[in-house]
Amino acid sequence: MTYVWNTHSPEETIALAKRIGEKLKAGDCIAYRGDLGAGKTTFTRGIALGMGLGDCVTSPTFALVHDYGEKLIHFDMYRIMDENELETTGFYDYPQAECVFAIEWSENIDAALPANTMHLNLERTGDEDRRITLEGDERFADIGT
Ligand code: ADP
Ligand code: MG
Repeated sequence: MTYVWNTHSPEETIALAKRIGEKLKAGDCIAYRGDLGAGKTTFTRGIALGMGLGDCVTSPTFALVHDYGEKLIHFDMYRIMDENELETTGFYDYPQAECVFAIEWSENIDAALPANTMHLNLERTGDEDRRITLEGDERFADIGT
């Protein structure tokens, strides 16, 4: 199913992402698409809140990966150009079935994404406006109604 939501502030994006985070389970993988500043890291903050992990998310741009209590693994693939670099992030070492993956710049590792990956697009439609599109299952049907 394709879900489309529009948010009008970072807080609204976090609130939406929190509701999605509440429905995530081990083995889920969210692959973001969206330019710099679209809100990928902000969205991940909401996911962590929804998963009950608290306000723990920071931008992984320099670290490439943040591991929030081994439940949520947050990757930034901006500078990942090939398979060897992907290995250095630990991408293959995490027990994917036991955690939730949230992946910024996922287009850089398309071929390595798990089969059950959900794609989430963030588009800037105004200074504080974002159009958020998720390809996901029926779990998310009651969000934003
Ligand atoms: P990315 O990780 O995609 O580069 P960030 O989440 O780090 O983006 O940054 C998004 C920026 O846009 C933040 O400064 C945030 O406050 C701002 N912003 C403004 N409006 C929104 C919105 N509706 N949703 C998400 N972020 C927003
Ligand atoms: Mg980011």
